[in-house]
Amino acid sequence: MQTTYERELSQTRDFLTQHNHFLIVSHVQPDGDAVSSTLVVGWLLSCLGKKFVMVNEGPIPKRMRYLWRAEEILDLSVTPLDRKFDHVICVDCADFKRVGMTHEWFAEGAQLLNIDHHPTNDLYGTVNLVVPSAAATAEILFDLLTYMGLDLDESAATALYTGLLTDTGGFRYSNTSPKVMAAASKLLEYGVDGPGLSELLLEQMTLPQLRLLTRALNGLELTEDGKIGWVSVDDEDLKATGAVHEDMEGIVNYPRNIQGVEVGLLFKVINEQAVKVSMRSAGTVDVARVAQHFGGGGHVRAAGARIEGTLETIIPRVLEQVRLQL
Ligand code: AMP
Ligand code: MN
Ligand code: MN
Repeated sequence: MQTTYERELSQTRDFLTQHNHFLIVSHVQPDGDAVSSTLVVGWLLSCLGKKFVMVNEGPIPKRMRYLWRAEEILDLSVTPLDRKFDHVICVDCADFKRVGMTHEWFAEGAQLLNIDHHPTNDLYGTVNLVVPSAAATAEILFDLLTYMGLDLDESAATALYTGLLTDTGGFRYSNTSPKVMAAASKLLEYGVDGPGLSELLLEQMTLPQLRLLTRALNGLELTEDGKIGWVSVDDEDLKATGAVHEDMEGIVNYPRNIQGVEVGLLFKVINEQAVKVSMRSAGTVDVARVAQHFGGGGHVRAAGARIEGTLETIIPRVLEQVRLQL
């Protein structure tokens, strides 16, 4: 008998083989898994001889430009498309909102293939390949390529490894299952430069990035019981340090790393009316639930939400919701 996963894999294969022209999108402010998964789906479609366009609402992080055809992922904020698409593949997007402005290029009634690993995924696709137990969307794509009998090469392996490496925090988080390690081991056999990628993606910092971190940590606050720690960053911090948006990634781990802290928070001021909150849990609190309360989502230990309001009003509201889970 077919398992649910096998059924979803076969529906996914049919979606990919039965149509000819696809739009591939990932979530706003893409991370390593989002960018890699976009490229791996592109790689897969090239193997099938299909046409595709890879896009994101904004630019992809500079440090990911080493990935195969990364420069082909169009930044829709500067390069509009010349047509709409009837077949769209969304990777690493927990819900439809996460595709951002890319949805303007979905034709009316477009069919969506939703490939994702967030437990909060609401199955918005026409076809859904959603595996909450997977550490990364890249892990699901590894299974899909195996299922479809496609032999990897070094560029596809490097992209898959990048997704696994970044979403597991360098194979350290609790999502680092035996299956992840087995996949990583196979990928290394295709010539992936594991240590080089760790150095580039997890160790190296630019000087502005370090200055931004320093400045953010100067404003670190803790609740009286020491269980919640948070920092915030705004445009002024970026201007003062010369840092760019992607340099905010990783800052949230610092408040979380403090002994005794159960939940670390990073508040990124988007504009005067909106704040993006990143949440990290030491394990006791399910931050995906907190994020969902604010219309966001994620995983038990890593989640996020975009909240309308000013920083001053949002911080106490988020703290209150986290306290309810403690
Ligand atoms: P971040 O804090 O942006 O690194 O995100 C942590 C995790 O939560 C990632 O798996 C994100 O994909 C997910 N996430 C972040 N923001 C949202 C959101 N607004 N809605 C759903 N999931 C989110
Ligand atoms: Mn992601
Ligand atoms: Mn992911």
